[in-house]
Amino acid sequence: MTTSPISSLRCIACGTQHEVTTARFACQSCGDLLAVEHDLDALKQRFGDLKQRFDQRASAFGSGVWRYHEMILPDLPAASIVTLNEGSTGLYSRPAIDAFVGCKRAQIKHEGENPTLSFKDRGMTAGVSWAKHVKARRVACASTGDTSAAMAAYAASADVPGVVLLPHEKVSLEQLAQPISYGARVLALQTDFDGCMRLVKQLTESGEIYLLNSMNPFRIEGQKAIGIEAVHQRGWKVPDWFVIPVGNAGNISALGKGLRELHALGLIDRLPRLAGIQVAAADPFYRAYKNDFAQRQAVVAQPTVASAIRIGDPVSYDKARKVVQGFDGVVGVVDDQAALDAKASCDAAGVHICPNSGVALAGARQLVKDGVIGKDQEIVVIATAHGAKFSQAAIDYHSHDGGPLHNTPRVLPAELTAIHGALG
Ligand SMILES: *Cc1c(COP(=O)(O)O)cnc(C)c1O
Ligand SMILES: [Zn+2]
Repeated sequence: MTTSPISSLRCIACGTQHEVTTARFACQSCGDLLAVEHDLDALKQRFGDLKQRFDQRASAFGSGVWRYHEMILPDLPAASIVTLNEGSTGLYSRPAIDAFVGCKRAQIKHEGENPTLSFKDRGMTAGVSWAKHVKARRVACASTGDTSAAMAAYAASADVPGVVLLPHEKVSLEQLAQPISYGARVLALQTDFDGCMRLVKQLTESGEIYLLNSMNPFRIEGQKAIGIEAVHQRGWKVPDWFVIPVGNAGNISALGKGLRELHALGLIDRLPRLAGIQVAAADPFYRAYKNDFAQRQAVVAQPTVASAIRIGDPVSYDKARKVVQGFDGVVGVVDDQAALDAKASCDAAGVHICPNSGVALAGARQLVKDGVIGKDQEIVVIATAHGAKFSQAAIDYHSHDGGPLHNTPRVLPAELTAIHGALG
């Protein structure tokens, strides 16, 4: 039996339809981004009671992305899935975190518990599975961090050669270790990050090498599973707010898309509000929001501890703008110190997060202070990567007086009396 496809690929600006098998992700008419669209009526008809399907898979199924296969890439045959059991990450409630944020309940959805320690794995399992499905012979991305680690891991798992373009001598060892370990062809180019981006676009233009950068719309479909899984873990009860850090703005776009589809499919009965948080060193989306999105803004991103969101001109600006507007959302901004203090507070509650996640947590606290999030409300904060992936930030904070929560190791002579003295 052959069935007609449920998903199509459409330009977000002019609506032109594109082949779902294409490896070119700029609209051929106007150059804007493409998005995967699912025919939700067909989805319901073909798969019936999705809630029941998802509930049944909940305990037995390893991947927290493919548990929701019908909502992610319904036309992808199960046999084409490339998975590392991504997702199924913890949703943590801690009285100390509620107290820090100042609202009734502030849960942390810890995406650092993914195979390469960031949420990028959710996008890459979808992107690489699709790449394999459309018979891509090579995949490529330009990245200084989590994207290249995730792409390299899934490319290796799929046995598809991966190419990573990095700016020479501008990437930390922590960020290099994963892609080289996973066997990707890592090319350190004598340019900056923007130079790498330009070149990876040219390299993939002919469609011979499959692009897995932020423009790839299939990654968004995998990332949608963060919100779906969080709501599922809450017994399909939506929180009042989701709070998420914003860099290229793909993740907030994915979050909104998934929640919107859950609602349209009848799995949730209302929509939450969304808060996107930026870091002061790179806040173009915040500036546009403050200006009622009258125009797209770009800034020169400054150095920040939140290096994964040091982005001056977000690729997914338009998708994210629509999501913020459609979810009665807000955009906030915090500085590095607030992000580090929030991270330290969360870490000390036993949930070790990265500085980018600290931005979201600090933003949530600020929104409660400002009265935007009510003290009686429940929120879910998306932590995007694990603290262990950004350990320099923790070492710096705790080695000297990095903030009110610093926990500096003490150097002592190797004597029991000295230890007793230190323990008091
Ligand atoms: C990629 C990334 C982000 C930003 O996500 P966008 O989709 O670019 O907004 C935030 N935190 C971490 C750890 C990331 O790797
Ligand atoms: Zn177009």
